[in-house]
Amino acid sequence: MLKVAKQPDGHPEIFYSVQGEGINAGKPSVFLRLALCNLACRWCDTRYTWDWEQYDFREQVIEIPLEEIERQVLSYDCKYLVVTGGEPMIQQESLVPLLEYLKNRGFYVEIETNGTLMPEENIVSLVNHWSISPKLSNSGNKISTSEIPQCYQFFRGLPNSHFKFVIGNEGDFDGVLGIVQKYLIPLEMVILMPEARDRKTLIEKSVWLVELCKREGYMFSTRLQVLLWGDRRGA
Ligand code: SF4
Repeated sequence: MLKVAKQPDGHPEIFYSVQGEGINAGKPSVFLRLALCNLACRWCDTRYTWDWEQYDFREQVIEIPLEEIERQVLSYDCKYLVVTGGEPMIQQESLVPLLEYLKNRGFYVEIETNGTLMPEENIVSLVNHWSISPKLSNSGNKISTSEIPQCYQFFRGLPNSHFKFVIGNEGDFDGVLGIVQKYLIPLEMVILMPEARDRKTLIEKSVWLVELCKREGYMFSTRLQVLLWGDRRGA
């Protein structure tokens, strides 16, 4: 069983779209949005997956058997799966049999994680791409919960990881540098992405963030889902 975010119509948040961020942006993908998170980012755009003061767990989360998830994922003509959240690694033990099943059917698997939970050995070999999103001080989390050194060191050593930083303003770049220098993360593993939940903000922030990326040599990522659909759920 996995705890999956529920769409407003009651169906689990398993949907077909295009990856909107990171190095796989633009790839048609099936998304599986898992519930629960171990952090509490101030600007989180999926609070309904974890903020039980603001949302009702029973209204937002559906616990479903792996066989049903497999059936729904396979119902799309697409072999690219993005597991997102919330924080998917909270449920890594239950994820393993699902990923094994899908990998045996030729799936490419990307996991989006905040990089604070160490993956077990059995999940590492099942993942094609790790999209790590380290949280800076702009997230409002305590550093002791958002920066777990052994996890950053581990992901930094994986050839199939990228570190995708959410940037709210130019001052956030100091936080990026702090992490990149401390954990010796190579330039080519770093992606900077604007913090935005609507098109106008995304475009405004992209203009100066692109300049910063040009100056520093980091990769820029937009958020196609915000550009195309704004703050819509399940898109
Ligand atoms: S880690 Fe991700 S899901 Fe969790 S609170 Fe932060 S932005 Fe939201």
